[in-house]
Amino acid sequence: MKNYTHILLAVDFSDHTDAIAERARDLADKYQAKISLLHVVDNLPIVDTVNGPIIPYEIDLTEQLMESAKLRLEKLAERFNIPENNRFLELGSPKIEIVRIAEENAVDLIVVGSHGRHGLALLLGSTANGVLHHAKCDVLAVRITDE
Ligand code: AMP
Repeated sequence: MKNYTHILLAVDFSDHTDAIAERARDLADKYQAKISLLHVVDNLPIVDTVNGPIIPYEIDLTEQLMESAKLRLEKLAERFNIPENNRFLELGSPKIEIVRIAEENAVDLIVVGSHGRHGLALLLGSTANGVLHHAKCDVLAVRITDE
């Protein structure tokens, strides 16, 4: 089997992020592959369950989300020794952006969790599922158990 050369670790900063990052780091070391880190700030509108209407993100809120995500991404990248040039912070739909960044950067393995913040009740979360179906490269869904 051909060695992986570029591994993309996609994180949503849920509780299992470290376990997924450890797996990706370990694989990158074993294959001596480049490793990149990606977080996507989801631009889905907020659903207001009290008043009913859907509130689109304000520009200010988006900027705040991007800023705090940038700090978290930097901290994580430093802990897992991921160089500055290999850190991606995008705004949009997580599954679309993960697949796009992978294609544009010749990634040959995407590492995600089997679920994250949105998929606790599901076997495979929607982002993981979407990436699995649309990516042109291999995808590793690291099994998350909620014990
Ligand atoms: P989900 O399908 O939302 O339950 O998430 C499954 C996995 O997809 C997570 O463990 C992450 O690896 C990845 N993922 C989900 N949301 C994002 C996001 N906003 N940015 C980057 N990766 C994500």
